[in-house]
Amino acid sequence: MQHVTLNNGLKMPIIGFGVYQIPADETEQAVSDALAAGYRLLDTAASYGNEEAVGRAIKASGIPRDELFITTKLYVQDAPAEDTTKRAFETSLNKLGLDHLDLYLMHQPYGDVYGQWRAMEALNREGLAKAIGVANFFPDRLLDLVINNEIVPAVNQIEAHPFHQRVEYQELMREQGVQLQAWGGFAQGKNGLFTNPVLSEIGKKHGKSVGQVVLRWAVQRGVASIPKSVRPERMAENLDVFDFELTDDEMASIATLDTGATLFFDHRDPEIVKWLSARRLDA
Ligand code: NAP
Repeated sequence: MQHVTLNNGLKMPIIGFGVYQIPADETEQAVSDALAAGYRLLDTAASYGNEEAVGRAIKASGIPRDELFITTKLYVQDAPAEDTTKRAFETSLNKLGLDHLDLYLMHQPYGDVYGQWRAMEALNREGLAKAIGVANFFPDRLLDLVINNEIVPAVNQIEAHPFHQRVEYQELMREQGVQLQAWGGFAQGKNGLFTNPVLSEIGKKHGKSVGQVVLRWAVQRGVASIPKSVRPERMAENLDVFDFELTDDEMASIATLDTGATLFFDHRDPEIVKWLSARRLDA
């Protein structure tokens, strides 16, 4: 496995396993299969409702804790968020059956963002979260957070795939020392991703699937990925991307697929702000 080095020196696998939309009663099996396939980074969230199942699979695997990289996410907290964030973190940790996290992400750029971040900085300083980061932060919000706080987010987990590549934003993040981790790296199959002619043609040349081409393209861009699958054969396929290389021409032809627009939602859209902010989780 290839790793990226985060801004505090922590090494993070460039490919991990995401568990969004895996029902809680299927998650333990899926994560057990993923660990058996060789994944060592697991990406969950308080809002996914499956942290306990992830924890059971981690425990059952017997894999030493220091070989794993576990990420979960804090859901939106009202002001003042310092105490509630700490409680939400402890709840996640208990559900996962762990004594520390490798990466704790603020899931949305909403609520008491500063209170949440200060509490996350404290968790980081105490060694309870080895790295802290954000998700779904657009450039203005990310820069504001970087400029006005002490700890620079190690990661920004955002939508990124061949149809929404985030090239300029990646460059800005790089300048700030923030690692781009892609969610929806396959666009959840939207827009015909898995049958796209450009990606299929490149795959044929290398004897690889479209999924492998997409993940390899991300690796070569220095973008971290967390593909989700409930099928063991796809889990294995999605890890098997380190034995081939896309040429500059192939990278350039994938670059032409960028539409510069989201296939999911825009976190600056007022309706989306209302929708995502309406939800609260019990700590
Ligand atoms: P994704 O990884 O883009 O796509 C998953 C879909 O692709 C599933 O339907 C899966 O089906 C299919 N698939 C997987 N591998 C395949 C392959 N090799 N060939 C064909 N189909 C394949 O979508 P995602 O789950 O939304 O994103 C990945 C992870 O990012 C999530 O699980 C979550 O951890 C994280 N995420 C974070 C946020 C955030 O706000 N921070 C938002 C969304 C997601 P099967 O399962 O049937 O194989």
